[in-house]
Amino acid sequence: MANILIIGAGGVGRVVVHKCAQNSDTFEKITLASRTLSKCELYQKEVKERYGVDIDIAAVDADSVEELVALIEKVKPDMVLNIALPYQDLTIMEACLQTGVHYLDTANYEHPDTAKFEYKEQWAFDERYKEKGIMALLGSGFDPGVTNVFCAYAQKHYFDEIHTIDILDCNAGDHGYPFATNFNPEINLREVSANGRYWENGKWIETKPMEIKMVWEYPEIGPKDSYLLYHEEMESLVKHIKGLKRIRFFMTFGESYLTHMKCLENVGMLGIEEVEHNGCKIVPIQFLKTLLPDPATLGERTKGKTNIGIVATGVKDGKERSIYIYNVCDHEETYKETLSQAVSYTTGVPAMIGAKLMMEGKWMQPGVYNMEQFDPDPFMEELNKQGLPWHIKEL
Ligand code: NDP
Repeated sequence: MANILIIGAGGVGRVVVHKCAQNSDTFEKITLASRTLSKCELYQKEVKERYGVDIDIAAVDADSVEELVALIEKVKPDMVLNIALPYQDLTIMEACLQTGVHYLDTANYEHPDTAKFEYKEQWAFDERYKEKGIMALLGSGFDPGVTNVFCAYAQKHYFDEIHTIDILDCNAGDHGYPFATNFNPEINLREVSANGRYWENGKWIETKPMEIKMVWEYPEIGPKDSYLLYHEEMESLVKHIKGLKRIRFFMTFGESYLTHMKCLENVGMLGIEEVEHNGCKIVPIQFLKTLLPDPATLGERTKGKTNIGIVATGVKDGKERSIYIYNVCDHEETYKETLSQAVSYTTGVPAMIGAKLMMEGKWMQPGVYNMEQFDPDPFMEELNKQGLPWHIKEL
């Protein structure tokens, strides 16, 4: 029976709190902390009404190691689930190290002043986590997260050697706004407006944003324009999937989204550096986030489905094969269950599953790990039980 501290009461945080409360036989004591206490109060009320579960709440600035250490010492959790923003990864990992508590997150560290994300700084905690006897599970969302587990599952059960992987992420949901992002707008727009990158024959190949496009037929959705992006799970998968020759990541975008984004970029609204405005300093992309709909409020308006999966090709017993593993998730169904749209749901459910497997000792080993480094089978079983069933097709 675990005592957990969840940090970050945003769109994904809501799903994590709901799913942990649904699994109260594993998570005996839950504390939710965030910068804004009122959001924690709202989610506290929701889980009491829906599941009869009492959770504790607290305010914390997760940019401050000192505040985090004080909170962890008070709550005494077995682990911390970091569901705040990638900017807080290092401070929360440091606080966990100082207090000897396990750690999990859903996105890799990003420096606020550089639109570049990588695992280097988080992997650098590995030796110290091992010495302290604690574990960090990195990227336990959908992508990264479930996509890494799908790759590990393909590797374990379907291939002697995987040669290529395409990760395919489609959100065919419609929220009815001319423009909104389905998770934190600042993180989302920084990711999507950056140069694309994929890995082939041992080298990273850079592309212009949205330079490579293909049309993919997504089961239960249909054909969609899919654009090559850089995505963080590729950095760990190239290290851990043996024999890999190429890995790419594609995401769908509608024409309206791309036109809005281009226009905002052209007028400087995606800028991450401070500008002076009427005597105050503002960061354009942060101001844009204030104007855009809060992703946590999109749930009740969003209709349609997401489909995220991987296509792996390679050899088994000397024969070439290609398999597609994917999940389809319905925005209206996830709203009914957790008052959240499917992008938050598909991230929050795997965060809860990662924590569950750690707390049950099924995925537990001192050090810093990515998802594909563990046995995928218990995670795949939990996906089917916890609302994200998956399908496999031989192509
Ligand atoms: P939101 O912006 O909705 O929520 C972020 C939350 O973190 C907010 O409640 C915010 O609090 C809190 N927060 C931010 N800064 C601090 C701080 N310094 N101290 C304490 N709390 C803080 O984002 P999402 O819920 O959409 O995303 C959460 C995470 O999930 C992000 O890291 C995102 O990159 C990741 N993600 C991962 C995906 C995956 O598949 N792996 C997919 C989608 C998202 P406040 O409201 O008070 O400002």
